[in-house]
Amino acid sequence: MKLPLSKYVWFDGKYISTEKALVPITTHAIHYGTSIFEGIRAYWNGKNLYVFRLDEHVKRFRRSGQFYNISLNCSDKEITNAITGICKKNKIEKPCYIRPFYFVGDYGINLHVTEKAPTNVAIFTFPFGDLFDKKGITAGVVSWRKFSDISTPPQAKMGGNYLNSIIATQEAKRNGVDEAILLDQNGNVSEAPGENIFIVRNGKLATPSLSSSALEGITRDAVIEFAKDLNLDVMERDIARSELGISDEIFLTGTAAEITPIVSMDSKIIGNGSPGKITKKIMKKYTSVVMNEDKDYSHWLTAVY
Ligand code: PMP
Repeated sequence: MKLPLSKYVWFDGKYISTEKALVPITTHAIHYGTSIFEGIRAYWNGKNLYVFRLDEHVKRFRRSGQFYNISLNCSDKEITNAITGICKKNKIEKPCYIRPFYFVGDYGINLHVTEKAPTNVAIFTFPFGDLFDKKGITAGVVSWRKFSDISTPPQAKMGGNYLNSIIATQEAKRNGVDEAILLDQNGNVSEAPGENIFIVRNGKLATPSLSSSALEGITRDAVIEFAKDLNLDVMERDIARSELGISDEIFLTGTAAEITPIVSMDSKIIGNGSPGKITKKIMKKYTSVVMNEDKDYSHWLTAVY
């Protein structure tokens, strides 16, 4: 699938046309996965384009590279301005996905990556609607386990880490389901290849903690806040695999997936096979917040225009 990329990208501090943004074949990141990225959404509400939780994304962007001493050679302010700037430059007036990334550039075959390793930084964007069917998707546990801190830091949002997501997705598709669920090294639920997971049991929400190798998702954090507003209990705790099948509701959270209900898990129908009551409340809250209809959360939105 070729992305419908916007006309301009931001590359090492400059706006250039997309086809001119090229890297040499010796780029370290291509060989060793030494790239750091974020996925960000911006929403058009008919009046303005709003970037959702931009500050949190920029913070995680820098932090991901710090696990490996890979330098992001520009300030948070420069990145923030470049993200809103690339939307402006492309005159975007529809919902879009924004992908900032930096990566180790020309560094030979050297595995001793230090803060002195040269890096490049770029941002592209494309129009983006729903990733998944919001009426609900099917999911199943796959045999591949989520990698853990035993081997590499799960909180580093880096290219190489996503090989685990790719092999899990391949297995899920072979099994005929829409999305994979990975267990952690101890056999508890961790997350999906690119989303966090929540279950609802007896009116209470639960999501795996970071010690189950789940990414500290920004949407996950938003849902925890929304649950508090809606007077719902929410716990970060171990979730046993067998709890999935007896959950009243299950949903995924992520920038791309937003809030996506799971209506079938390991061939078991969840709830009555359509999005549950609590899931729908959270979805509604999410939409009102990103559309800037909920003034309590307008500080989570950065206006582009
Ligand atoms: N887990 C993984 C592995 C992811 O790639 C993502 C997407 N960034 C998420 C969870 C969800 O995180 P966020 O809500 O910050 O997009």
